[in-house]
Amino acid sequence: MAEYKDSAFYKMALDQLMSVSTLVDLPAGVIERLKIPKRIVVVSVPVRMDDGSTRMFEGIRVQHSLTAGPGKGGLRYGTSVDVGEVVALAMLMSWKCALVGLPFGGAKGGIACDPAKMSIGENERLTRRFTQEIFPFIGPNTDVMAPDMGTNEQTMAWIYDTYAMTAGENVAQIVTGKPVAVFGTLGRRTATGCGVVYTIEEAAKHVGVKLSESTAIVQGFGNVGSISAKELQDRGTRITGVADVSGHYFRKAGFDIPDLILHTSRNPTLANYPGIANDKVTREEFYAMPCDIAVPGAMELQINGETARNLKCRILAEAANGPCTPEADKYLREHSKEIFVIPDILCNSGGVIVSYFEWVQGIQMFFWSAEEVDNKLQQMIRRAFLTTLSFSVSHKCDMRTAALSLGVKKVGTEKHVRGLFP
Ligand code: NAD
Repeated sequence: MAEYKDSAFYKMALDQLMSVSTLVDLPAGVIERLKIPKRIVVVSVPVRMDDGSTRMFEGIRVQHSLTAGPGKGGLRYGTSVDVGEVVALAMLMSWKCALVGLPFGGAKGGIACDPAKMSIGENERLTRRFTQEIFPFIGPNTDVMAPDMGTNEQTMAWIYDTYAMTAGENVAQIVTGKPVAVFGTLGRRTATGCGVVYTIEEAAKHVGVKLSESTAIVQGFGNVGSISAKELQDRGTRITGVADVSGHYFRKAGFDIPDLILHTSRNPTLANYPGIANDKVTREEFYAMPCDIAVPGAMELQINGETARNLKCRILAEAANGPCTPEADKYLREHSKEIFVIPDILCNSGGVIVSYFEWVQGIQMFFWSAEEVDNKLQQMIRRAFLTTLSFSVSHKCDMRTAALSLGVKKVGTEKHVRGLFP
């Protein structure tokens, strides 16, 4: 299992932890414990495919820390999924939950597969069997999953149903991001994108960008990217760049985001949207386009050192987890006066915040209005932004260092006062 230590994404997450290790003033033994996940579970998931053959998949669940409460983190389906990626994402979840003050530890899961090439039946059988295989390691007070790349509300409904059927009782709070019809919460589907834009609003106020007169480029047009783009457009921002797995597209006059959302609801990608082929640029050209706000909202390690040096935005809102390589990170830290970075663990925390609301509603069997969810989300995420900003000003450091310091300090302190077990 040691191979996760060779993963580029894990090295990046470790690099981030070590970058604040002296600032947080924790005993060395605590930092040593934070470097390593508490538990890695790898299970074989045999699935009967539609053609009658049997395929083996590798399912992974990593619990980085369970000190503050049950593990919390998404489940990702994708071809790049491996233990290193999942360990890194679980680590980021620990800092994220701590930064925004949630009673959760950090966890993450994944299955290496290509969900777009699987039928709904295959996807369902994969999800249900994975849930049964990890049944002893998850639970409403142990580890609570949620959607991430390649999974959605339907995936969560299958997990909820399989868990409840196996446990022999209703356990609504076993996963979050469920459909509203089965104990989901109003506002979860849009929570991450809305949260991204609430943090952009705060950043824009701080650096003096007027959203109604601004332009933005958004990489990724799935749940997070499309909602972030729509919320920005609703505030008057012209979305000049969009991108998905089919390519990167730039249109100076701006894209009609609701129309693109309608298109992707009926088509797998942006590729055959009318006229978009003429707007195609490379990823490097995309990120080098002048704009006020750049939103990497697709996947990790998309901005390397060279991409960072070519950025021409005023605000970089990290909607995706870990979008910057360590080299890009170093450059951005040194240029934090020119480019204001909203770090991932803060920027995309709206998803886990509303997941927390869903968990609470599931425990109480008492459900809130959409307005209540949104008001509480805004309160929590804006407060986390302002706390991070104030730390960065008082400690004269960039926003990522501030966010990581606050998150790591909280998890580390909990470990220190509880002792060696958790
Ligand atoms: P998604 O599967 O809904 O969408 C991913 C998007 O990225 C798709 O449009 C896909 O085509 C695009 N993409 C994939 N590879 C690409 C590439 N090489 N270049 C450009 N685009 C590419 O996933 P999502 O839920 O929107 O998650 C996106 C990011 O946000 C991930 O990093 C995820 O971990 C993070 N995140 C998601 C949530 C959530 O609530 N869904 C919460 C916090 C963080």
